[in-house]
Amino acid sequence: MLLYSTNNKDNIVDLKTAVLDAFPKDKGLYMPCEIPVLKNNFFNSLSELSFCELSFAVCSKLFKGFIPEKNLEKIIYTSFDFDIPLVELDDNLSILELYHGPTLAFKDFGARFMANLMSFFLSNSNQKRTILVATSGDTGGAVAAGFYNTENINVIILYPSEKVSEMQEKQLTTWGSNIKAIEVLGSFDDCQSLVKEAFLDQDLSSCFQFSSANSINIARLISQSLYYFEAIKKTKNTINDISITIPSGNFGNLTAGLLAREMGLNIKQFIAANNSNNSFTNYIQTGEFLPKPSIQTISNAMDVGNPSNFPRIMNLYGSTWNIIKDIVKAHSISEQETTKYIQEYYTQHKYILDPHTAVGIAATMKNRNNYTNIVLATAHPAKFKETVETLINIDIEIPSELLKLLSKDKRSIRMSNNYEQFKELLMFDTCST
Ligand SMILES: *Cc1c(COP(=O)(O)O)cnc(C)c1O
Repeated sequence: MLLYSTNNKDNIVDLKTAVLDAFPKDKGLYMPCEIPVLKNNFFNSLSELSFCELSFAVCSKLFKGFIPEKNLEKIIYTSFDFDIPLVELDDNLSILELYHGPTLAFKDFGARFMANLMSFFLSNSNQKRTILVATSGDTGGAVAAGFYNTENINVIILYPSEKVSEMQEKQLTTWGSNIKAIEVLGSFDDCQSLVKEAFLDQDLSSCFQFSSANSINIARLISQSLYYFEAIKKTKNTINDISITIPSGNFGNLTAGLLAREMGLNIKQFIAANNSNNSFTNYIQTGEFLPKPSIQTISNAMDVGNPSNFPRIMNLYGSTWNIIKDIVKAHSISEQETTKYIQEYYTQHKYILDPHTAVGIAATMKNRNNYTNIVLATAHPAKFKETVETLINIDIEIPSELLKLLSKDKRSIRMSNNYEQFKELLMFDTCST
């Protein structure tokens, strides 16, 4: 698989470079030079394949010649060893639960696959990588879990102090070993800026080989495109066109869905569900993209004012708004609507939505028409226990994986959002040893 930079189509690298380095020096994002369309006999036999089998079929087509099949198979089977239920709420509304991985959010798909793929590429080479990752909540936890104790890889996670839930914070700060957490007195955007500046810093690049585990890393998007095949495989009502709703922040998940559609998967439309951070919704409505500072909401993993995957979506469709707005609808959902749906779904369906999935449901309701609707459930409600329990007045059972974490001690380094301070900390830590 060869990939080009969205800032320069002549800047072409192979899969290994794109995965290990995460992004090109020209500050673009890597995109596949070619997206293969899968054959009819693959789609016809989809229902007979397990998730790992279909993932292997898709990935071996994408990665042909760039990774031996037996290694690819191992990467897939060790990355995806959890369930992906499709829960039918009525004839034309189902929820694809992507939160049964170890950190209870869909980010486990991308993080585990990326960790295994990087680890494969680093084995047999003398190279090391330091992964810098800014998180608004869930990415950091999934990345920490995915990379914990992986050889030749250190992980440094930056998260905004007091803007993640207690559960999320435990998932970031209780690891030790090759995982370090930095608590930034500032916003998620501040964390993302610190990371971006560090990547470009010449002094730092003389002692670190940085990589990114944010959704700018193409490995995450490729693995996330796989569960769209699973969604279609499990959908019974295929008389209507299929519409998939994606609770969105940095828009990696939507980009992954668009890649699956380009590979020939039968998805008529996507609905991008924004919370009050509505730059993308405004783009779909007006054709103009204006990034904004992020606003804090209860669906905090989607509090992103300048979605980093936007250039990829532009590149896929030649920046043509008319094409994009035909395939992707978008809605911005208020906090009131979000809480209303959490309450309504519990009363009517006895189904507990987390705030992100509730944003997805609300957006779907604005656009239901004659579609078979699938909403991606991006996190387990227990991750947002306090918020959800207050709204529906029940005790949410905490899955045992999370319960274990709660008894562990938080270990993080608190820091201002000042870049020089961050740099000093990195230099002190690594360059001196
Ligand atoms: C990260 C995240 C999102 C947003 O996904 P993007 O790929 O950044 O658009 C939505 N919901 C949850 C629970 C998340 O963790």
